[in-house]
Amino acid sequence: MTPRKVRVRFAPSPTGPLHIGGVRTALYNYLFAKKHHGDFILRIEDTDSQRFVPGAEKYIVETFEWLNIKFDEGVHIGGKYAPYRQSERKDLYKKQVDKLIEKGAAYYAFDTPDELEQKRREIANFQYDASTRMHMRNSLTLPDEEVQKLINENHYVVRFKIDPGKDIEVQDLIRGEVVINSSVLDDKVLYKSADRLPTYHLANVVDDLSMEITHVIRGEEWLPSAPLHVLLYRAFEKEEAMPRFAHLPLLLKPDGNGKLSKRDGDRLGFPVFPLNWENSDGEIYPGYREAGYLPEAVVNFLALLGWNPGTDRELFSMNELIDAFSLEHCSKSGAKFNYEKGKWFNHQYIQLKGNDEITKMFLPILKEKGITVSEPMVEKVVALVKDRVNFINELWDQSSFFFRVPDSYDEKAVSKRWRSDSSVQLTGLSEILASVDDFSSENTENIVKQWINDKGYHSGNIMNAFRLALVGALKGPHLFDITAVLGKEETIRRIKHATEVLK
Ligand code: GLU
Repeated sequence: MTPRKVRVRFAPSPTGPLHIGGVRTALYNYLFAKKHHGDFILRIEDTDSQRFVPGAEKYIVETFEWLNIKFDEGVHIGGKYAPYRQSERKDLYKKQVDKLIEKGAAYYAFDTPDELEQKRREIANFQYDASTRMHMRNSLTLPDEEVQKLINENHYVVRFKIDPGKDIEVQDLIRGEVVINSSVLDDKVLYKSADRLPTYHLANVVDDLSMEITHVIRGEEWLPSAPLHVLLYRAFEKEEAMPRFAHLPLLLKPDGNGKLSKRDGDRLGFPVFPLNWENSDGEIYPGYREAGYLPEAVVNFLALLGWNPGTDRELFSMNELIDAFSLEHCSKSGAKFNYEKGKWFNHQYIQLKGNDEITKMFLPILKEKGITVSEPMVEKVVALVKDRVNFINELWDQSSFFFRVPDSYDEKAVSKRWRSDSSVQLTGLSEILASVDDFSSENTENIVKQWINDKGYHSGNIMNAFRLALVGALKGPHLFDITAVLGKEETIRRIKHATEVLK
């Protein structure tokens, strides 16, 4: 048998903004697909009409566009196995559920919610299964005529008839093998006549078969879903076409205690969603994109939350991730969500990007501040300060003094560093600066140092006062790198301004 082409899918339910854990699941599927020259598919599992949230699908598509994670087929681009939205595949599920009924693998059930509630009260740990189904209202217990009548009335569900007392073996590429007994499973509802929609389990299995999915790489807890799905493949007599499973480690809270939740993000101050999301009450859930993350950093960060390359290496481009990725190197145990590491990655990617690229991202921020300066000037500034920031928007804090004259001078620094003779000395300095032709950092520095020497001044005193005059505080990059960017005129202007204000 020739091996099948690898086909994997990301199959989110559009019930709200995609969680960052879902993004990781999609990323691992993508890396696996590309590593094996396979296909990556986006399928929308919108069979739960109660939980459907408008806009969620668009959000999902936008997320992967931002992250540069590309699908080969999907709800937004079509493909050979279309449609990719489950609500548009109703006929297929109906056909398959009928097949299961015909085979005796599933049956109609008519119990009302009240009747089920009643049973739950009567019987401790009630489960709809082999031990109880014969006491319920379904096609196994009611006379044929009544069954037909109830089906015609369209008030039924279809339940999976689980054979009790059988060991089900599940192979998982990450977790290994697990055996669970079918008696722990209930007769899951597979289909509801009310909305003509299948439930998650049936739709998921039918679609994975019909879309010829070879590997199911999932983020959710794998029990008891995976064994149930194995039984469904068997019921369809499609075990040979069953995808291989790989259940990813859970994403844990930063302290490792339990699953990462939306509330952890609020509580600890970091996003757990890829993009900003506004819910129907106008509440904003913060996203990585809007928080100033570069998509490459998010991808690299997520890739290492549950997978490792087997070495200490941490920085990987997308193509390098594709090369290095393997399910064997995914861990079984949960991965702690170390948000600080996310910042570190962003810092690294800012350093790796060209100054021109960072400049392009910084320009809109400057524009918003009302600053109009030439792009080459901004690029010089970026080169000087980018190693001090984790996020693009921090560039402003590190560099605002390049773009406007200090409107105040740090008081503490002034009282400590602006001496009675500073004004006179700096006025002398500006005369020297006025005579400098080559205002490059190196040349200016040499000339100023020579002048300080000749005068017998204390270098520290001059430099601190000079920095205060230019920056307004005792911070910033190398002083003569600053003067080189400001230029001669502006440097002299700032000295004059400071000596007037600080007298
Ligand atoms: N729609 C399911 C979910 O979002 C998909 C699970 C799967 O990958 O099979 O949880």
